[in-house]
Amino acid sequence: MKLYIVSTPIGNLGDITFRAIETLKAVDVILAEDTRHSQILLKKYDIDKQVVSYHSHSGNSKLEKILDFFKEGKECALISDAGTPGISDPAYSLIQAALEIGVEIIPIPGATAILAALVPSGLPMNQFLYLGFLPIKKGRQTVLKSLADEERTVVFYESPHRIAKTLSQLEEFVGAQRKIVLARELTKIHEEFIRGTVGELNAMFKTRNPKGEFVIVLGGLNY
Ligand code: SAM
Repeated sequence: MKLYIVSTPIGNLGDITFRAIETLKAVDVILAEDTRHSQILLKKYDIDKQVVSYHSHSGNSKLEKILDFFKEGKECALISDAGTPGISDPAYSLIQAALEIGVEIIPIPGATAILAALVPSGLPMNQFLYLGFLPIKKGRQTVLKSLADEERTVVFYESPHRIAKTLSQLEEFVGAQRKIVLARELTKIHEEFIRGTVGELNAMFKTRNPKGEFVIVLGGLNY
């Protein structure tokens, strides 16, 4: 019994490994977050397989159905809409449940926005802290306060309509001088790295209407 966790592109459809394509062609069932979205990738690489949805709202009955695939001797691959499954994407519950019935979990590594943003940021990457998406309401201030003393580079995801608010909150909680990089539309036509201090970017985004996908890379204290 095998479950392959397959990384897919984060924008540029060329960013997929040979092994990922071979694996998706070889398995019996592909579990996808959004089956229609994934068809674009699967069509491009001539992958014609049974595709079953598995997403954050998939309940226990869906999980049981997927576990039955393994029990029937089928091999499955899990993909998400972009990047690496499990990284701010569904995977955890399925991996846990699959491990419980003795399924072997095999990673097929590839793109993730975390590293595509961190590596070119110019900020220290010998150690870093990944926070996923910050809490929207409850717990948000606690996380932001904790960043004031954080010495490691911090990476987190943010939706475009919250960028301006987050920058203003960062100025309040970590101060205007902290180094920051916004990585936008990674691997896509409008890829952009906006580097500066929290104060500079906060001022910039008061008049700019952010569009696309963003990763925030925040320098640590004392950097
Ligand atoms: N599993 C994905 C990964 O490995 O990076 C992350 C999925 S998470 C639901 C989606 C968030 O990742 C977006 O809101 C954005 O913050 C970030 N992201 C994904 N693709 C991106 C890209 N091409 N450029 C910038 N950020 C991206």
